[in-house]
Amino acid sequence: MINLILFGPPGSGKGTQAEHLKEHFQLLHISTGDLLRNEIANGTKLGMEAKQFMDAGQLVPDEVVIGMLGGAVDQSRSMGKRGIIFDGFPRTTAQALALEHLLADKGTAVSVVLSLVVEEEELTQRILKRGLTSGRSDDNDIDTIRRRVQEYRTKTEPVAGFYKDRDLLVEIEGVGAIEQITQALMNAVNAYSSKHSDG
Ligand code: AMP
Repeated sequence: MINLILFGPPGSGKGTQAEHLKEHFQLLHISTGDLLRNEIANGTKLGMEAKQFMDAGQLVPDEVVIGMLGGAVDQSRSMGKRGIIFDGFPRTTAQALALEHLLADKGTAVSVVLSLVVEEEELTQRILKRGLTSGRSDDNDIDTIRRRVQEYRTKTEPVAGFYKDRDLLVEIEGVGAIEQITQALMNAVNAYSSKHSDG
């Protein structure tokens, strides 16, 4: 399988790039943010629990998010996909460990972690712009956006070190033409999936 992680702060372009990469490599796209918003839209208990954290710009507790991903590998296989692209997951070291176990149980592993690098001011501007059309309340409020970036710095950024130690981290400049960034990501995937492929 080819299992990709799109890593980076809110507004760094993970969702946009996931759309391109999933088509090209035939991957199941799993966005934990989308899964959570779906739970909220369906009015589930999980959704109601997650909403308070999301509205405050905080991370949803690990066990809630991890619990949603149990069937991911089986789902991608039954759909005939070549692997999975994780977008917005893992966001804590506990999630990274849970993912490592979940994939190992299915005889597979993370192929590469693609980290999109974008500076802070650009992130805020992009999220506010997205908020004009996304319908997401967490994209419209400057304090919530700052809180999300702060959560990223304190809880998510350390996950990069986890993957650096495993020689799986690639940093890609996330500013410039979308197609050029996609190409740089594809080149990294090709280089790493030949190195770490599990068939
Ligand atoms: P996103 O769509 O990836 O920007 O996620 C929106 C919000 O959903 C985040 O600000 C978090 O509150 C929550 N969320 C999404 N993915 C995760 C995750 N892996 N761990 C914890 N919270 C998450």
